Amino acid sequence: MKIDKDRVVGIEYTLKGDDGEVIDENVGSEPLHYLHGHGNIVPGLESALLGKLSGESVSVSLDPEQGYGERDEKLVFGVPRKELPDDMEPEVGLMLRLQSPSGSEMIAQIAKVTEEAITLDGNHPLAGQGLNFEVKVLEVRAASADELTHGHVHTPGHDHH
Ligand code: ZN
Repeated sequence: MKIDKDRVVGIEYTLKGDDGEVIDENVGSEPLHYLHGHGNIVPGLESALLGKLSGESVSVSLDPEQGYGERDEKLVFGVPRKELPDDMEPEVGLMLRLQSPSGSEMIAQIAKVTEEAITLDGNHPLAGQGLNFEVKVLEVRAASADELTHGHVHTPGHDHH
């Protein structure tokens, strides 16, 4: 079965930055399963995998726009320490879940901590980076009706409901 919209795809991948450093990989552990055509993975990787068969390998290098987007410096902002919850111990690298003024939820990482303020960065940690994927397709199957309704894969033993 070929990879196409509404197929569940299991892959093994290695992700390297433009400097050749491994950023992420799942070789030798659980395959990553995603639902094709639903934005579960970055757009450039999704288009590179279209039409591939189980057993095929794909190498693809993506510009930031085809990956996690360019960095947006407007998403970097300071918060006075006095506005933080009293029990919070801010540390560089900590990820926070925030409510934006418009009410939507965003994830931001603490980029800097000083006596008076912390600096938050709402960019994806891989924004602005070139992504180099080596992928092996391990499995391609039709999605179930439930998976299509939810827009993501249901793996046995991983019940998120
Ligand atoms: Zn679901």
